[in-house]
Amino acid sequence: MATTAAESSPTYEVPAFLSAFGAPPQPARVSVQTPMPGQRLTRAARALVIFWAVAAGCVFLPVLHFVLVPTFAVIGLVMGAARLRDQQTVTRVHGECPRCGREQDFASGNRLAASWPLDCPVCHTNLQLTVDGPAPPTA
Ligand SMILES: [Zn+2]
Repeated sequence: MATTAAESSPTYEVPAFLSAFGAPPQPARVSVQTPMPGQRLTRAARALVIFWAVAAGCVFLPVLHFVLVPTFAVIGLVMGAARLRDQQTVTRVHGECPRCGREQDFASGNRLAASWPLDCPVCHTNLQLTVDGPAPPTA
């Protein structure tokens, strides 16, 4: 891997299964991105700045600013801390729906977990994605 910029964070694939009630589970591939510490810091700072900018904008709202300014300031801190803790982000879920058989990409963007619910965009079946194999490496 080229070491040109710190923007290229490692991505790896983990095997998983898509299951639906009454249908045999189908294999799926889950792409996981491990953000570099610098990227996590950038994302945390971005979340903090966005919410604090909103909080600063609320200063000019009469009466409401008593509630909105501290609320957005706290949300900014919480979101920033959450971004900082983000270890592994799911960038892609690809597999075959066990119900309708359509091979497709499913919704992603969540943090990697042992399993999570998915919705098939074609047949709208509630699916359960279960990550197969050993726990992924931690950064
Ligand atoms: Zn389906």
